[in-house]
Amino acid sequence: MVEVSEISLHVKCPMCNAEKTIKVPSYVFASKAFGALKIQIPKGSVCLEHQFVIYVDKKGNIRSYETTDYQLPAVKREKKEKLLTLKDFVGMVGEFATLNVLHALFLDLPIIIVQTKVDPMMEKVINGTLDALFPRFFKNSNGIRIIDRNEFKSLQNIENCLAIDEEGFILISPWEINKFEIEEDLLTKVLKLDDFNQQKIIFQQLLTSFFRKLNFIGELLLSQDVVYEDDLKDKFKKQFMQKRVSNYEIELIKAVLDKRFQKDVSKIKIRSFNKLKESLW
Ligand SMILES: [Zn+2]
Repeated sequence: MVEVSEISLHVKCPMCNAEKTIKVPSYVFASKAFGALKIQIPKGSVCLEHQFVIYVDKKGNIRSYETTDYQLPAVKREKKEKLLTLKDFVGMVGEFATLNVLHALFLDLPIIIVQTKVDPMMEKVINGTLDALFPRFFKNSNGIRIIDRNEFKSLQNIENCLAIDEEGFILISPWEINKFEIEEDLLTKVLKLDDFNQQKIIFQQLLTSFFRKLNFIGELLLSQDVVYEDDLKDKFKKQFMQKRVSNYEIELIKAVLDKRFQKDVSKIKIRSFNKLKESLW
């Protein structure tokens, strides 16, 4: 049986106070694994100018709002028969959910997509597309699983995974971040291209250069007792001819080394914090 009941959420834009009621399927609140539901409110949904993410608790109360400022090329929200490109996927679940999926793929975490009516071909097509996009050294060991709403409600012990709805609601995610600079950069470059083979080339090039950085830090961790983030940024600039190294890039590399490759990243430290600690002692 397909459940159709919905819960209405009264959403107020945090920037201009425009108000609108949006509907969320009620099954998302019935899950055992439910933490905070994250919903992207794109431009044009509540007001014309702003986009943001809302965090909703199990009782259906909006707990917080966070603004997002993705500079991604616009993709029309529409459902396609075949999900052959990343653009089709963004069209289905939206930018925010796609960035979360990319993040989970980087970390090699299990990913679940909940569909109202499971299309058995979808799982095959999505995984086939990912297999083609991701280079061998960056494969997802779990693959993406598609399940229906009832199966989702009965799932247990699934904290360490990403679960999204086909509408793009984030049902379960092990992280609090909602800005994904590196994934956004990757997605922006890919969305500018129409040809899948070109998308594939860009995707693999960017992941290869990211992988080089992982290796570089991996080597450093073997030969040094402590690696300071400031030093790391300087080394990156020289080694990879990069003008700017963001904190997010360092955090992402640490998370990938930790989750995907099970490396101990506790040696990577922030210098100021250590100095502070020393002075406290
Ligand atoms: Zn607004």
